[in-house]
Amino acid sequence: MNFKDSVEEAAFRQEVREFIKKEAPVNDGRGPDPFASRGQYSGWTKKLAERKWIAPAWPKEYGGAGMSVMEQFIFNSELAEARAPRVGGIATSFAGPTLIHHGTEEQKQKYLPEILDGETIWCQGYSEPGSGSDLASLQTRAIRDGDDYVVNGQKIWTSGGHVAKWMILLARTDPTAPKHRGITYFIVDMKSPGMTVRPLINMADSHEFNEVFFEDVRVPKENVIGEENRGWYLAQTTLSFERSNIGSAVGARQNIEDMITYAKENRGNGRSMLDVNPAVGVELVDRYIEAGVATLMSYKIVSIQANEGIAPGHEASVAKLYGTELNQRVYRTGMKMLGLYSQMDNKSAGPEVPLRGRMKYMYLRSIANTIEGGTSEIQRNIIATRGLGLPRG
Ligand SMILES: Cc1cc2nc3c(=O)[nH]c(=O)nc-3n(C[C@H](O)[C@H](O)[C@H](O)COP(=O)(O)OP(=O)(O)OC[C@H]3O[C@@H](n4cnc5c(N)ncnc54)[C@H](O)[C@@H]3O)c2cc1C
Repeated sequence: MNFKDSVEEAAFRQEVREFIKKEAPVNDGRGPDPFASRGQYSGWTKKLAERKWIAPAWPKEYGGAGMSVMEQFIFNSELAEARAPRVGGIATSFAGPTLIHHGTEEQKQKYLPEILDGETIWCQGYSEPGSGSDLASLQTRAIRDGDDYVVNGQKIWTSGGHVAKWMILLARTDPTAPKHRGITYFIVDMKSPGMTVRPLINMADSHEFNEVFFEDVRVPKENVIGEENRGWYLAQTTLSFERSNIGSAVGARQNIEDMITYAKENRGNGRSMLDVNPAVGVELVDRYIEAGVATLMSYKIVSIQANEGIAPGHEASVAKLYGTELNQRVYRTGMKMLGLYSQMDNKSAGPEVPLRGRMKYMYLRSIANTIEGGTSEIQRNIIATRGLGLPRG
């Protein structure tokens, strides 16, 4: 494989780099503040929107940048290298592509422009207390009543539900049909009467996700995307996204580099943390090598996507599984290196704590990495059956 950019790719990389240097929020070298609010980045979001870089993978006719898979890879790599905040999320990755492929003209005109301004937050109402990995078993019910559907049930782990304007909702419209065939895809206004959003605070002391309850919530029939009972298939819609996970691989390497710099710069009685605990130095070397392996996996995936024109299958599961478990190892190493300092974060102990308190926050937050977006066990099942041809367990 050739790792060198083509002439065009090098020019594009330079363009992205210069844009980031000029427009991205100032990076003081200590890495992102895990408790920064979205509002802090609104200037940056606006600049991205002006470039049509909120949804770089969307076709130009729908307001995206129409970037090729390789351009997205370069864009994502450079954003990660500069530690620039990402925008988009559910709106650009799930809601927008589904609307582009399956929405009516009215729906596209109503929702796509505000997704592209980068400020409107969407959330995803898929998981329920009894349905996560086996999502098609979901029980939230939507019953047609005149021009509306009446929704009753509960969603859980709804990221951003407390700040979202819209939800993409999967609800059961035909309980007699086989489970994948009785689900409909809705857009729901988060201010609808009968909806209650209750916070779930994660163990990193951060409010990211929520429980959402539906009590006789009326959703107009115009808010159904695609056909009734075809929602399961719509929920699989994606555009030609770069799926390499390069941001995660770059982030792992940067965290290791940060730890090494911190250890070198902070000496007590003339000794660095690594002099005191040399075993951590050995771990840092292992993590550094593993971050390199994760980067190579990302290159392999983008090469499959860009050169063979096919979506990666089990290879994306390999990268997700490896990258998220590596994240947990990286932060475990960080916690060991910082010793008792690792228990502080900038929320509880002020801005001057080592590495902005990122180790503690991310050590706790990274536990969820192997659950969100499909658990490690599910990724292993995919790799076993689709990748290695092993029988289902
Ligand atoms: C930080 C975070 C954010 C999230 N955000 C959202 C969101 O915005 N919207 C949303 O809808 N959901 C969201 N989720 C939910 C997420 O999609 C589910 O947690 C995930 O799919 C797992 O489902 P579950 O929690 O119900 O666990 P379960 O599916 O009940 O799994 C429990 C355990 O059993 C294992 N298991 C299950 N089935 C199998 C199997 N077939 N073979 C082997 N092992 C198995 C799992 O790996 C896991 O260890 C979020 C989750 C997290 C952690």
